[in-house]
Amino acid sequence: MSVPGLPPLREVIRRHGLDARKGLGQHFLLDLNITDKIARAAGVLTGREVLEVGPGPGGLTRALLETDAARVVAVEKDERCIAALAELAAVYPGRLEVIRADALETEAAELVRPGAAIIANLPYNVGTPLLFRWLARPDHFGSMTLMFQREVAERIAARPGTKHYGRLAVMANWRWSTRVLFDLPPRAFTPPPKVTSAVVGLTPRTEALAPADAGTLSRVVAAAFNQRRKMLRQSLKGLRPDAEAWLGEAGIDPRRRAETLTVEEFCALARTLQSPR
Ligand code: SAM
Repeated sequence: MSVPGLPPLREVIRRHGLDARKGLGQHFLLDLNITDKIARAAGVLTGREVLEVGPGPGGLTRALLETDAARVVAVEKDERCIAALAELAAVYPGRLEVIRADALETEAAELVRPGAAIIANLPYNVGTPLLFRWLARPDHFGSMTLMFQREVAERIAARPGTKHYGRLAVMANWRWSTRVLFDLPPRAFTPPPKVTSAVVGLTPRTEALAPADAGTLSRVVAAAFNQRRKMLRQSLKGLRPDAEAWLGEAGIDPRRRAETLTVEEFCALARTLQSPR
């Protein structure tokens, strides 16, 4: 499949000298059936803005521009990709804005209107820190459709009591519904990464699973999972020396371990840490 007026992606890569750089987590998607599938997985985009982080040579960007999205804003760190993306912008006048920046240093919510979708094949080295920032804005982003290493995808969507359940799952599922949508094998990428990848879908919940202050919840969850094999009365001592009493106030057996607690129970711990009874 190709888009009229656009050269094949391999030619774009050759012409602009976009040999993949490991340090930038560059694993490109050149099969437009796959990029289409990711764009479709994002659901209805009609009239919405889309933020793409790391457009690279623009394969996924092409698929996004073929949807009914109002506009795509693409943030790319690699200077070499900018000219290639400018050619793409010229084919879709007024619909693609390319920003050359480090996504870790941009305020994503300032780049797109409320309700915007974030859709990206993320660079592995910065995917998780970026996700943590975006998770803080369920009020602004209407959905996220993101490619991660399969193991990270499992950690995002993990349920309590399972192997992958940890800080990422608690912070993600507190205010978002999460789902692993589909896997992609290494051969889907150029060059192929070492491991399988997966696309995760996140949609903001109308209400958080339970009330809590985000900063406090994050501190409690980090402390609890920092020593995930220990009982909570031990692992939480750094936050409140009388951790056993604190756990009692929150109605949680102090002998339990972090991985058995539901998101609601972590929220109860965060609330009682802030206002002890
Ligand atoms: N979207 C393209 C695709 O699917 O073929 C490229 C995906 S590649 C996995 C990740 C992209 O993110 C690369 O283009 C890389 O240059 C870019 N990138 C890496 N670190 C970045 C950062 N901190 N901010 C913005 N872009 C970054």
